Amino acid sequence: MKRVAILGSTGSIGVNTLDVIRAHPDRFEIVALTAAKQIERLAEQCIEFKPAIAVVANAEGAAQLSRLLQAKSISTQVLYGPDALVTAVMESGCDTVMAAIVGAAGLVPTMAAAQAGKRVLLANKEALVMSGNLFMQAMQSGGGELLPIDSEHNAIFQCLPDHFTKSPSAHLGVEELWLTASGGPFRDKPIAGLATITPEQACAHPNWVMGRKISVDSATMMNKGLEVIEAFWLFGLPLERIKVLIHPQSVVHSMVRYRDGSVLAQMGQPDMRTPIAYGLAWPERIDAGVPNLNLTQLASLSFTEPNFSQFPCLSLAFAAAKAGGTAPTVLNAANEIAVAAFLDEGLPYLRISEVVERTLSALEPIAASSLELILDVDARARDMARQCIRNFK
Ligand code: NAD
Ligand code: MG
Repeated sequence: MKRVAILGSTGSIGVNTLDVIRAHPDRFEIVALTAAKQIERLAEQCIEFKPAIAVVANAEGAAQLSRLLQAKSISTQVLYGPDALVTAVMESGCDTVMAAIVGAAGLVPTMAAAQAGKRVLLANKEALVMSGNLFMQAMQSGGGELLPIDSEHNAIFQCLPDHFTKSPSAHLGVEELWLTASGGPFRDKPIAGLATITPEQACAHPNWVMGRKISVDSATMMNKGLEVIEAFWLFGLPLERIKVLIHPQSVVHSMVRYRDGSVLAQMGQPDMRTPIAYGLAWPERIDAGVPNLNLTQLASLSFTEPNFSQFPCLSLAFAAAKAGGTAPTVLNAANEIAVAAFLDEGLPYLRISEVVERTLSALEPIAASSLELILDVDARARDMARQCIRNFK
């Protein structure tokens, strides 16, 4: 029986995780659930799964959740605030942590899970982008297992030789990693036509149903840029051996090219329950509730090179990855602020990449030597990005 804590249980990944777990009560027990604002949804989850601990963002939410749970005689301990996310990891008795908070808010509790030797199911790519080296060191010293949940990285993990991640420097015949990308809703639209794009248009992903932030990242292809950095840290291959391929059908979730000419691909429906089930049960395979892939019903599978001039965010991410140090931290922070401003404050879509570019050029990268330093750079980059957005108005 695995004891699972879900950080971000009310989001798209969180709900899909509970869906897989619901089908396997003999294998998994939920011991902690956390959410920021969707208190009623969290209450329903607590009533169904009866975790030891539930965490929300603030005191008001905690009071509301406590009332809803008392009314159903549920004895879950209700906590609130960022420190309580770490408590959920450390004191719920979990052995497995699904890291599915969106953005930098997930970093500290995910790092705590790594240090404590938990099995970390990593959906929260921003945490790894911000602090790749430190996070991988924390995983190593904690001694737990790191299972990538992002579909591309999960696909690559499945296609790599056994033990690859234990000794990546050996490379074991691996030449290149090919990350596939659908290209998002604006794949074939010239960038000049995107000036008046609304949040609803940007969030209407052709193949995947996801949270709003990652949906916008998919439209700008910042998501793929973050994923290149994620792959760099997870798999330890030099950047120039990590490639991006546009694959509009989202059937091949990523590939590994080997020295002998073999290319291994992982295919499946675009349904996050497949990588989630893989991570939960690894090294076993369990039913994920996902329909079979019917290859005969697919008209074709196509692959093309990305057009970098159409997706400036992808270029910025590659540049930040190359610059190293805290550049990816700055990239991520500026992007989070710009995407939030696009979603909530009417920042024009094409300004997202401008905010990221200006913030990156204003803050010189330094060595990402400690968590405190990374959090400090993250805060400064956010201030800088906000300033930049104010200047646009
Ligand atoms: P989402 O917006 O649907 O859910 C985010 C979750 O995080 C919610 O439970 C929310 O309550 C919680 N949260 C948000 N801000 C918080 C804060 N400040 N403090 C505490 N909790 C907070 O997002 P999602 O689509 O489920 O994505 C989650 C993560 O997984 C992201 O990092 C995303 O990049 C990654 N991911 C998602 C998908 C997908 O298909 N949705 C695929 C690959 C990777
Ligand atoms: Mg992905």
